Amino acid sequence: ISLHMNAGLLVELPHLEDSGADGIGLFRTELQFLISASFPRRERQTRFYEAILEAAGERPVVFRALDIGGDKVLPFMRHMQEDNPALGWRAMRMALDRPGLFRTQIRALLRASRGRTLRVMLPMIAEVAEFDAAKALVERERALLEVQGREGPREVHLGAMIEVPSLLWRLDELFEKVDFASVGSNDLLQFLFAADRTNERVASRYDPLSPAVLRVLAHIVEAAERHATPLTLCGEMASRPLEAMALIGLGFRTISMAPAAIGPVKSMILELDAGALTEAMRELIEDTGASIRGALERFAREHGIEV
Ligand code: PEP
Ligand code: MG
Repeated sequence: ISLHMNAGLLVELPHLEDSGADGIGLFRTELQFLISASFPRRERQTRFYEAILEAAGERPVVFRALDIGGDKVLPFMRHMQEDNPALGWRAMRMALDRPGLFRTQIRALLRASRGRTLRVMLPMIAEVAEFDAAKALVERERALLEVQGREGPREVHLGAMIEVPSLLWRLDELFEKVDFASVGSNDLLQFLFAADRTNERVASRYDPLSPAVLRVLAHIVEAAERHATPLTLCGEMASRPLEAMALIGLGFRTISMAPAAIGPVKSMILELDAGALTEAMRELIEDTGASIRGALERFAREHGIEV
């Protein structure tokens, strides 16, 4: 079981070493943009990504393409008022409508990854065609690099985040095309339950350990296995030991979490009999209640697992 960490700033990179994470499963590139007074130009972005890769050494880094718009408003971009920003013009929707920003970022990432493997994942994909369109833009930038005679990455792995429920019915087509996929449980749950993740009155109203969520995740794991597509989950769900335990019981073998969560999740795993848990999950997933939290806590207690 591989544990990766989520990051977004260079100052977080030392945690990679002291947490013992196997790599960075989610690098939120927009944070660099959000703290900047002006649009980071390509050279500055290239230097930044080089520094991240340098600090990560041999460990893999998954860069998430800009996830801006919605509640992540860039101070230097003209902001449109939207009634439902979480459902609005954000992330890849913006990237595909105005490819300038996306292409600049891809160009910087390609240059920064000379001789290495570049891993990029696309946020808020809702249609397989959006992945195709983004991939075509990436390929175009790769071809351009070649024409210019510049050294590019050895390989490019392009993945999709699964955060929009429409994709749940397109997994077979999607997994045929992507190099990997990562479940963004923060957004996926907000859209699944129609509960704004930033609204305290509703954000914790539904339990991530509800049969609905578990069945959705089991469905994703099964599809990924069918297509041998590498799958991870990088939302907050992976940061809590009990939830991380449920994910392992569902078949996840790579998860990415906040640096501080790596220690506690690792201790849980060291005590875990994954075979027994998988058996237990097969029944728990058929539960008819609102949450299997109590039952999982019982499993943990009975097996001497601290969660
Ligand atoms: C998610 O939605 O689960 C995710 C990892 O992305 P973010 O929290 O940055 O939206
Ligand atoms: Mg998200």
